[in-house]
Amino acid sequence: MSINQLSYDYGAAKSSIREIAAYGAARKAEIGAQNVFDFSLGNPSIPAPDAVRDSIEHSLALPATALHGYTPANGLPAARTAVAESLNRRFGTAYGPDDLYLTCGAAASISIVLNAVCNEGEEVIVIAPYFPEYAVFIKNAGATCVEVMADQDTFQIDVEAVRSAITPRTAAIMIDSPNNPVGSVYARKNLEDLAVVLTSKSQEYGHPIYLISDEPYREIAYDVEVPWVPDLYDRTIVCYSYSKSLSLPGERIGWVLVPNTNPEHDTLVPAVAGAGRKLGFVCAPALFQRVLIDCVDEPTNIEAYVRNRKALTEGLSAIGYEYIEPQGAFYLWMRALEPDANAFFQRAKSLELLPVPSDSFGCTGWVRVGYCVSYDTIVNSMPAWQELWDSYQQG
Ligand code: PLP
Repeated sequence: MSINQLSYDYGAAKSSIREIAAYGAARKAEIGAQNVFDFSLGNPSIPAPDAVRDSIEHSLALPATALHGYTPANGLPAARTAVAESLNRRFGTAYGPDDLYLTCGAAASISIVLNAVCNEGEEVIVIAPYFPEYAVFIKNAGATCVEVMADQDTFQIDVEAVRSAITPRTAAIMIDSPNNPVGSVYARKNLEDLAVVLTSKSQEYGHPIYLISDEPYREIAYDVEVPWVPDLYDRTIVCYSYSKSLSLPGERIGWVLVPNTNPEHDTLVPAVAGAGRKLGFVCAPALFQRVLIDCVDEPTNIEAYVRNRKALTEGLSAIGYEYIEPQGAFYLWMRALEPDANAFFQRAKSLELLPVPSDSFGCTGWVRVGYCVSYDTIVNSMPAWQELWDSYQQG
């Protein structure tokens, strides 16, 4: 009996972020949680708002058959309406419930969209460094992942490099702003420039090039504009989840939006539904669809991340580390103290510091330091960061 080799390879290789996190958990059990500084996983350290618990308690009064029953494949009309109306209030749009497909998180949203737009042998551009699962999802959709490095000074999109990477086989480009792993936020001008290139290349090749905007960190931004991408490029499809904004990563709830301003809207909507069906991503968790009806406008509490970001950046820059000033999400992109980020990681690990080496994200020489941890973890880690720095000064 045979197995699917690609699936085996992904299962056997595992995600390096999760491997580091698993090591961190085991190490904490061994030497005490307070002695391990695990900056690996993007698991929010802020509790979900009280309104989520209230909503769940309220739903529990429903008859069990209604509470636990199937919803429509694309989600409860009331939940999709609540999301559409919330977007309309925020972005001055006129979306309706039929523009939305509820999913079990951004991972499912991305897989659905890639399967909706890609054909075998086509290409999808990603901006490196990038969330590693993109490559997995793209390959599974039958497409090739084409990496285009971000501008190495600003970590904004290098629009000219994107222009050069587009071929007649390009189906889509994926972006993620606020960005994991860099913490950058793409400026309006940068996105406008990208839109010009995508429009002209779509015309040149005679088929649409879609912009897949993956936005789980939209609300986690520090005094910087996060432009609404469909306003800037009409062939945008948005992928979203509440994993980060409402601290609900384990509950698996998010959506795909095909804006009604997208020229291919009427074919994309069934393609999204069909991709959901093909992948078995139908009927997102019903309890959390109901939570959305009550909580879609709950503000994201970013206070703790603001405080953590300040402590981390101040502490690391006082030591001498170089990093990209984080504008959003909860990651700091820091230059490793040697060209080999894996070697730097090994030395950090020996001091109980667990960042993620940049090779996992498609580039060399950096590490990602996730600061969705307790404030104490950041403050208490500083002597170890200092020791790591000192070890490099000694050669
Ligand atoms: N996209 C990015 C950029 C992420 O960082 C993550 C999770 O960390 C996801 C997608 C997946 O999100 P979800 O947990 O909602 O599937």
